[in-house]
Amino acid sequence: MTTPAYKRVLLKLSGEALMGDDAYGINRATIERMVADVAEVTQLGVELAIVIGGGNIFRGVAPGAQGMDRATADYMGMLATVMNSLALADAMRQAGLTARVMSAIAIEQVVEPYVRPKALQYLEEGKVVVFAAGTGNPFFTTDTAAALRGSEIGAQIVLKATKVDGVYTADPKKDPAATRYSTITFDEAISKHLQVMDATAFALCRDQKLPIKVFSIVKPGALKRVVLGEDEGTLVHV
Ligand code: UDP
Repeated sequence: MTTPAYKRVLLKLSGEALMGDDAYGINRATIERMVADVAEVTQLGVELAIVIGGGNIFRGVAPGAQGMDRATADYMGMLATVMNSLALADAMRQAGLTARVMSAIAIEQVVEPYVRPKALQYLEEGKVVVFAAGTGNPFFTTDTAAALRGSEIGAQIVLKATKVDGVYTADPKKDPAATRYSTITFDEAISKHLQVMDATAFALCRDQKLPIKVFSIVKPGALKRVVLGEDEGTLVHV
């Protein structure tokens, strides 16, 4: 089975996913492996947009930002996502993919600004689009940026890459009896208090009827299986 289940997807990668086993920053081998996963998906003909976090470099609510004005700290967090986006796009180019970074904050000497029609054009041309600087607003997260951009570009699904291979009945690290949900509705996730994305992002996806797939980015081949519509991770749907 090599027919993708989706034509256009929005992939959300956390900043931490780039760290590998390092304490912070970008791990070269990890980013290269991630790019290889991305390449597999683009080879299937799927249009791919990526939102990347910044937690590996800076997090607005982290101890290091304590005492700082929240909005200032959040802008620093958004700039961290720009650095990650540049690193990711560079690694993609080195792997032979065509990537474009578009920023929600104007820094035109570095990356082009986010312009929706342009992003749609790039996707139609088969380029991988990396959305940098989150939503461009403090007090939000890159999960929300993923829900927002995913809705704007008409993605059929938001793929939330995590270190765990889906949503579990309980924390699998604490409870060995915890089992993975293959699918779950938005309402079930709310009533069971399951954390899928942050509340704003989750509400936006739910309103827009935009399904979310939570899957493991550390599991080899998982991204491709997700895009092929296989039983990988957890599908959150209306
Ligand atoms: N951020 C923000 N607005 C946004 C997206 C991100 O203010 O729209 C800031 C916020 O401070 C956040 C940081 O950027 O802590 C990094 O983003 P996030 O925590 O979502 O990254 P991840 O956890 O996915 O690495």
